[in-house]
Amino acid sequence: MKTITPTSRRASRTNKPILTPARDGHGNGARSARPAVSAGLAKWLAKPKRNLVGGDWVEAASGRTFEVFNPADGSVIDHAPDSKKEDIHRAVTAARKAFEEGPWRRMTPSERGKLVWRVGDLILRHADQLAELESLDNGKPRSVARVADVPLAADLFHYMAGWATKIEGNTIPISVPYAPGARFHAFTAREPIGVVGQIIPWNFPLLMAAWKLGPALAAGNCVVLKPAEQTPLSALRLGELLLEAGLPEGVVNIVTGFGETAGAALAAHEDVDKVAFTGSTEVGKLIVRAAAGNLKKVSLELGGKSPNVVFKDTENLATAIDGAANAIFFNHGQCCCAGSRLLVEQDVFDEVVAGVAERAKQIKLGPGLDSDTQMGPMVSEEQLRRVTRYMNQGKQSGACFFTGGGRAGDSGYFVQPTVVTDVKPKMSIVREEIFGPVLVAEKFSDLEDVIPRANQTPYGLAAGVWTRDLAKAHRVAEALRAGTVWINCYNIFDAALPFGGYKQSGWGREMGHEVLELYTQTKAVVIGLG
Ligand code: NAP
Ligand code: MG
Repeated sequence: MKTITPTSRRASRTNKPILTPARDGHGNGARSARPAVSAGLAKWLAKPKRNLVGGDWVEAASGRTFEVFNPADGSVIDHAPDSKKEDIHRAVTAARKAFEEGPWRRMTPSERGKLVWRVGDLILRHADQLAELESLDNGKPRSVARVADVPLAADLFHYMAGWATKIEGNTIPISVPYAPGARFHAFTAREPIGVVGQIIPWNFPLLMAAWKLGPALAAGNCVVLKPAEQTPLSALRLGELLLEAGLPEGVVNIVTGFGETAGAALAAHEDVDKVAFTGSTEVGKLIVRAAAGNLKKVSLELGGKSPNVVFKDTENLATAIDGAANAIFFNHGQCCCAGSRLLVEQDVFDEVVAGVAERAKQIKLGPGLDSDTQMGPMVSEEQLRRVTRYMNQGKQSGACFFTGGGRAGDSGYFVQPTVVTDVKPKMSIVREEIFGPVLVAEKFSDLEDVIPRANQTPYGLAAGVWTRDLAKAHRVAEALRAGTVWINCYNIFDAALPFGGYKQSGWGREMGHEVLELYTQTKAVVIGLG
């Protein structure tokens, strides 16, 4: 296998040695000593990584690979196939063959459900290693991956497994005016869409693969999945588990590569019936254009700039402060639903902002694999630059950086948890998705003031509300234009809860039974009874 040097924007990522020794590491001084990975994971990392196509592990047609980095220190941890159009075409061909000719379509829903269930079981069986891998590749704390990403991924497969036997149509009484006296038996069947292309981001690599694959498989589709270039590894490990679960060859194909090449080829492929995408709104718009060629179905889960509204009558201000900190700092702010705009009723503004800033200062930064790390690095140097660029724009436009405001340490891609005040609506830090641990806090006077301001964004993914006034909570929940509203909580996810965006935050819903609408199509059948 030949290895290429990353080009264009990736050229800036270099294979840097570990630069600074570990500090004793409380608070925001980033530590960067690399903890050893387990022997099992080291062995897995040493194996060459290939694409999963038609049940086989194959190199990219070009034989090229790209480097996969540890964001805690910039070192190269692995290489993955640098797939292009030809590789996507092979994978789509394998998926089409599996859909049209393979045993998959002949399986009973119960058999299909059991296979999907088994994937969930295997994820749990390998939970420790998957959490370790996710932490190493993405940078998130291993402890967080172990209690959140991995069990949520398993749960998604278990939840969707149950739906395989419950995807039903209807019997429809019809009254055809131009056929007086004729009798018909009419019914609908819900059938899989066919070959589905799925393109996922780097912020929850395993979990996003689960969100996409679970419903697609429960509904009987075949898939080509492209993970993000920054974090391809857990998807490849998941591919091994899918085979171990007994999934027939070609039902799931996993192809690693860059968005502009592999991703674009998948979105545009004429034999793909549907594309499901999670990532930036900007790329979401490119996906829609690419999908127009064969009018493939499109579902999108995109960005956000979610408001988190704290009223002074909240039950317990300390709980709201913890909630506001969690809303922005969980997963280093690299969440599409991050509560990145904190709107606080003026009487308690100073107390809430000081409380969130205090929590920010206490967060222990470090490599995800360190057991006491609470926040790891940004996923990549590109993301570090993006977040610090927004911070600099904020400073230049006169915002007040209450705490944080820059890079942490000088190796790895760490940034300080940051709280910003004194902002104006037109500032880029207020309007645009930063996708980092940067909170913008603003005062409001009352309900009439806060609702339009909370909705003043092209996004509409999520929102939070903190109040003990039940009527007010309901009124605000109804008025917010967002796909999820959390009241007196934040970041609560469940496989049974639909998740997705209003406005430019997306098309369609992930999870819950609603997602099955995106992976099935309805056939109406009419039988003339004479
Ligand atoms: P992105 O470019 O939208 O990446 C998401 C996925 O789309 C990745 O698999 C990416 O591949 C692929 N992709 C990129 N360009 C493509 C194209 N032209 N055609 C088809 N697929 C394409 O996101 P990013 O660059 O990684 O991050 C940029 C910003 O997006 C973040 O700062 C954040 O604001 C937002 N974002 C949102 C979410 C979310 O959950 N809503 C997740 C991640 C990022 P490669 O990664 O291989 O290029
Ligand atoms: Mg990208």
